[in-house]
Amino acid sequence: MLSTIIKKTIGTKNDRELKRMRKIVDKINGFENAIMALSDDELRQKTTEFKERHQKGESLDSILPEAFAVCREASRRVNGMRHYDVQLIGGITLHEGKIAEMKTGEGKTLMGTLAMYINAISGKGVHVVTVNDYLATRDAELNRGLFEFLGLTVGVIYSQQPPQEKFDAYRADITYGTNNEYGFDYLRDNMVFSMDEKKQRPLNYCIIDEIDSILIDEARTPLIISGQAEDSAHLYALINNIIPRLTQSKDEELNKENKEGDFWIDEKNRAIEISEKGYEKIERFLIEVGELGENESLYSPARLPLLAHVQAAIKAHYIFIKNVHYIVDEAGGEIVIVDENTGRTMPGRRWSEGLHQAVEAKEGVEIQPENQTMATTTFQNYFRLYSKLSGMTGTADTEAAEFKSTYNLDVVIIPTHRPIARIDLNDQIFMTKLGKYQGIIREIKQITAKGAPVLVGTATIEASEELSYLLEQAGIAHNVLNAKQHEREAEIIAQAGRPSAVTIATNMAGRGTDIILGGNWQAEVANLHDLTEEQKEQLQADWQIKNEQVKQAGGLHIIGSERHESRRIDNQLRGRAGRQGDPGYSRFFLSLEDDLMRIFAGERVVNMFRAMGLKEDEAIEHKMVSKSIENAQGKVEARDFDARKQLLKYDDVANDQRKVIYGQRDDLLLEADLYESIKGMHHEVYNILIDQFVPRGSVDDQWNIDGLEDEIEEAFRFYMPINDWLDADRRLDEEGLRQKIIDTAIAHYDEKRSQMGEENASRLERDFMLRNLDRHWKEHLTQMDQLRKGIHLRSYAQKNPEQEYKRESFELFQAMLGAIKSDVVQDLARVHIPTPEEIAFLEEERRRQAEQIRMTFEHATMNLEGEITPSTPAERPVQQGFKRVAVSLGSGSVDFTPVKHQVEHNDDVEIPENINRNAPCPCGSGLKYKQCHGKLT
Ligand code: ADP
Repeated sequence: MLSTIIKKTIGTKNDRELKRMRKIVDKINGFENAIMALSDDELRQKTTEFKERHQKGESLDSILPEAFAVCREASRRVNGMRHYDVQLIGGITLHEGKIAEMKTGEGKTLMGTLAMYINAISGKGVHVVTVNDYLATRDAELNRGLFEFLGLTVGVIYSQQPPQEKFDAYRADITYGTNNEYGFDYLRDNMVFSMDEKKQRPLNYCIIDEIDSILIDEARTPLIISGQAEDSAHLYALINNIIPRLTQSKDEELNKENKEGDFWIDEKNRAIEISEKGYEKIERFLIEVGELGENESLYSPARLPLLAHVQAAIKAHYIFIKNVHYIVDEAGGEIVIVDENTGRTMPGRRWSEGLHQAVEAKEGVEIQPENQTMATTTFQNYFRLYSKLSGMTGTADTEAAEFKSTYNLDVVIIPTHRPIARIDLNDQIFMTKLGKYQGIIREIKQITAKGAPVLVGTATIEASEELSYLLEQAGIAHNVLNAKQHEREAEIIAQAGRPSAVTIATNMAGRGTDIILGGNWQAEVANLHDLTEEQKEQLQADWQIKNEQVKQAGGLHIIGSERHESRRIDNQLRGRAGRQGDPGYSRFFLSLEDDLMRIFAGERVVNMFRAMGLKEDEAIEHKMVSKSIENAQGKVEARDFDARKQLLKYDDVANDQRKVIYGQRDDLLLEADLYESIKGMHHEVYNILIDQFVPRGSVDDQWNIDGLEDEIEEAFRFYMPINDWLDADRRLDEEGLRQKIIDTAIAHYDEKRSQMGEENASRLERDFMLRNLDRHWKEHLTQMDQLRKGIHLRSYAQKNPEQEYKRESFELFQAMLGAIKSDVVQDLARVHIPTPEEIAFLEEERRRQAEQIRMTFEHATMNLEGEITPSTPAERPVQQGFKRVAVSLGSGSVDFTPVKHQVEHNDDVEIPENINRNAPCPCGSGLKYKQCHGKLT
């Protein structure tokens, strides 16, 4: 209340920001006439002038007003588009290192050019980040003309790009690419063997398009470069067999007391919990098949990975559903992941932590080998490396708090160029999914009868297929846009705005492509070859009529068939309609059987529906229900935010270590002479070894000289006659002895070095150090992974998992640094004097091995316990055999007249005796038992 009053009197923070920026816009506009008077050459010359002024010390901020005026004028001349004032505000926002929230269709692509231009003046590079390769190339090509006109270069990076081309793309003034590619290049740059192989320059400024998608949705996905490790296919097949023996319990409380069931699914946290009874059963099974020794336990640290295998197998069977989370590519005999957010298939991506293999075992396709992590980071930590970060999207405000806390990014809401004319209607809520679908179909009929196009958004491929089937039954022509048809995606979207067109799309499929009212006549022209000018004009004239017709009919209509877990994704769907002041409409249709409602809607809501005696296809619009849905979304958003924070907390620990290792690696590549470091390592390594046999400050009867001699000989293949030294010199104390051993070791190495020659020795040292650093770092990453996976068990022992993780990973890291040094000293001591050819071969071999690694991008998220799980929603039940339901639909009249549906009964089905009357009927009709076979009996 108070805050509303304050907001009314002094305006929101956003209002104040806009007011401040409007003053800058006035300055930009003040330059317009003078800039318009310049010739093309003079305009281009401005870029050189700005660069000189900046080099002499003038700040980019002070150059900005004139530079924006130059960019705007160049765009007018090259593209025929003059940046709107609101786009100037967006450009300032981006330049200031903030997020510009700009509604879909308002022209973010053009807005971005302003901030790219001003920041390119510094010559340190501007990275533009897009969600996919198609958009990177498209946007680069859209803007290339403008930038080249202004004398700037544009580069695009993509995967599997020839090295030189990528190197050049990173040296362009403005570079376009996907978040994955930038992240991978960063990781790869820290795996090279000489500085000149590095592709990226120091990370300067970046603009992330669809920033919410990348920093929020994808932030649950760490970037992992991995190589293949040893084959354990048999283990997956074996553990897959155990699953039918385990029984699921639905009752969490019962299980906690170990009374019933072997495991249960914690839906809210997406985790598998195994009961004590379950542990015993699994243990017995593994002993039976010889995977575990008679006296071994699943709890012992070395055996913990086995348990993870079992959990993965349970997830594969109970949480991951064919055609929802993955599809089986029959031809390739492969499991292909379906992206939860976009509904697109992601060939080549694999779930980590053995889940992919578990799903392969379940589906009986070939089990591919596991990967070893070679390098990993998160988008959070990658993007925080930039000196300045900014982004744009249509939907950021709901996540503003997270942007602030994780990235220190402010969100500025940019006003629209024209007022929004879209009408957003209240949700309609039905009892059952079937009723909801009937409601949607009635609505579609009404909309298309008016001549308006409609886009139906679904959360899963399965839902889009169900709806498509029902529309077919109802005789409504339509297009389906989902993972299975992405090649036709652009074409379908281009025409989704035609009069009465019906398009079903999984959430966000075809994102980044405009739906133009009346259809996209230019795309049509591009598809038809050999058109005469008249024919083209005719097409345009036809479009004009259709465009008018659709506007009259209320524009593009959006129907959401389910609410997504995050409000932001819902807003994205709505945002597809009503672009740039176009008319439009949006409404969500929900049912109590939707996942979100099923998991989170309280009994109260369900009871309310019951009390109202609602018929199946009758809907209500009620504040309480809408509130309850928003609460549910809020809960899921908070859970996801927690998961991301958790991932970040764990990655922050790894990040500090990564920085140390990458820094050391750079030093190794940059330093001409490593000899001093090598000498230092000798000191450290020998000191630690000597401590074990000759403790510091001790006297000679506490010494174990024979042991020390043996150990040195064993470790370094080098005999030191320490006993003889002591016999010869009675006054040699602990300190003197220590010094003599180290001096001898170094002298021994110096001798070897002089035989090798300075240059060869130097190459060998660098090679050994890099080799050992990389090898130990990789092993360390695997250990950290194991540690993180097991760490939540510590909370059972009343310990704080996070603290424990920090402490133990620090210890692991220290141990790793020690091991690197000791291995380098050992290797150098043991090696025979190599010839230059041998050294060259060594270097070549290491390079070759590095190139051989098949790098894969893994798709994983972390749950609240810090355990990595695939990014999928909580269990989503599939209505088995849905397609056997035949539905006769009502006449499509305006009110919600009840309609009857006929069901094809499958009478060969066995009905369990104690079946719950509210459970789905075992015949697969998709109806409740009491309404199906339960009614018949
Ligand atoms: P967004 O990414 O914000 O959804 P786009 O960048 O795809 O929007 O732009 C939507 C449409 O608006 C494009 O066809 C673009 O050419 C057009 N547009 C953007 N800005 C302008 C402008 N200043 N003048 C004219 N057309 C513009």
